[in-house]
Amino acid sequence: MDTVGDEAPGERSVIVLLCRCEGEIQGAIDLERVRDCLLTHPRVGMVSIHDSLCSKEGRSQMRKLCDKREGERVVIGACSPEVPEDPLRGDLEESGINGYLVEQVDIREQCAWVHPSVEPATAKATALIRGAIDRSLRQEPLEDLSFDMAGAALIIGCSRPGIQAAIKIVEAGFRVYLLDEEGRGHPPLERTPANQDFGLLAGHENAEILLNCSVEAIEGVFGRRQVKVHTVKGPAEFEVGTILVVIPREAFAEDSFSHSCPDNASLVTAAEFERLLTELESGVQSLRLFDGAHLSRIGFVQRVDDDEEAGRSAPEQSAFVALAITQALRLKKLRPDVKIDFYVHDTEGLLRTSKALSDSAARSGIKFSSLAAPPDITCENGKPLVRARLLGHDGSTDIESDLVVVIGGRKGPGIASKALELLHMGAGEDGTINDLARRPAADLNRGVFVIQTSESEEDAARAASHAESVASAMVRIMRQRTVKIPRHVARVQEFRCRGCGKCAKVCEHGAIKLVEKEKGEQIAQVDEQRCESCGLCRVACCNGAMALLGYTTTQLLAQMLGVIEEMSD
Ligand code: SF4
Ligand code: SF4
Repeated sequence: MDTVGDEAPGERSVIVLLCRCEGEIQGAIDLERVRDCLLTHPRVGMVSIHDSLCSKEGRSQMRKLCDKREGERVVIGACSPEVPEDPLRGDLEESGINGYLVEQVDIREQCAWVHPSVEPATAKATALIRGAIDRSLRQEPLEDLSFDMAGAALIIGCSRPGIQAAIKIVEAGFRVYLLDEEGRGHPPLERTPANQDFGLLAGHENAEILLNCSVEAIEGVFGRRQVKVHTVKGPAEFEVGTILVVIPREAFAEDSFSHSCPDNASLVTAAEFERLLTELESGVQSLRLFDGAHLSRIGFVQRVDDDEEAGRSAPEQSAFVALAITQALRLKKLRPDVKIDFYVHDTEGLLRTSKALSDSAARSGIKFSSLAAPPDITCENGKPLVRARLLGHDGSTDIESDLVVVIGGRKGPGIASKALELLHMGAGEDGTINDLARRPAADLNRGVFVIQTSESEEDAARAASHAESVASAMVRIMRQRTVKIPRHVARVQEFRCRGCGKCAKVCEHGAIKLVEKEKGEQIAQVDEQRCESCGLCRVACCNGAMALLGYTTTQLLAQMLGVIEEMSD
């Protein structure tokens, strides 16, 4: 450590801590020259250079230097403040420095790594730190916002990442509500191991799986959001602390066969069959399937468009088949008399990958036949006709069943889009929201996380690991009874407000309302718990009456002017 300056505590003075970043900055920037320049600033009381501020030794030096200096400001010149594990601000707060009076300037990525020579890197580092000093002098000490946390999580999207995240959360002792939408009443599994995961989850006392449902409303604030859903059994409502939205890929859009034989109750997708099965299991009479017509035989038929598609999506197809087997077993429990036949590609592969399931199916008398080619599904005399070529058979076979369940078929990300809309997090055209997807799971994200299901084998591993880390983050948040987040929220400068209400109109989070001021005048008021720091109100206000705490015009101008002055010297 190399310290220069008046070490006695001073009112509203600034301490500057520079880091050599274990040689990453040292050599690329002349830190001694930066120090000497900064010491000419009238408000800088001390400049200290450290080998590695985030090392144990560096943190201890920093704490010693800043101890008993409450009210002073600290400017750090080091790596990016976005480094998630960055402990520096927390250490300074423990020493008594208010975290809102700490500025961190990234002189590693922004200066040392991008400039080929010492001169421009040193000049830029000095100017950026000077700007941060001038800004810090205009900051006010603040308290973080506190939120109470509900010990339950909502997961939207019953895909493999959703199931994996749900398991991690229930195993940590928290309640999980796992939702999927109408028409996707089954877990659209991408990999067969998810079958076992889903079974594990379905039997867990902390898990509530709500399939075939829609999300009607998500209200409240971070930590305590009230979720209203509509299920096959009617409306339901619960409170959650964290939310995970899994964006599904549009892998299997609505099947085109439904157009060839419209409104025929004898031909359904596995998703539709799940709804009917759920109704049957809950004692709600199904009007389409089991009313009147005697159901004695069901054929489950795997439908893929061509061999290429079958090969490309083999793991996913295999998972769809495995899921259909679980449906068949459920039906067997209710109606042991019904004969069930499966017509699938690669039965051997299926029996290998889902041995427990296929053994159970065999014990229940379910028969399997291997398809030699994708089946033809057409309509004849108003009835569906499924014609298939089976391995080991000459010619085509007509599949005779009272009901044909077509394996495959998934709807788009309706429920995920709706949830994101309710959370005011607009999704892009492809259903993804990039800025959130890129944020590390370590971020609080106000308790709302978004991930995507897989596109490929490689993506599947990535999605799985992302789901695990997001679930850990959700558990970490819920373990804290109270969560604190920075108070970078909107604040009204009352003397400027004319009560026009433009800010309230643009605020998607309902965080602004107009309240009575004296003499019947109105003024805007911000609910800090609801404010998501988007800044829209600030842009909408023509009177300059809205400001974001920590980013006021005065603070930002001071920073810019500091940089410009330093560069022009
Ligand atoms: S837009 Fe500005 S002036 Fe109008 S109510 Fe909001 S803060 Fe006040
Ligand atoms: S910053 Fe955004 S969320 Fe906060 S009050 Fe303004 S418009 Fe609403």
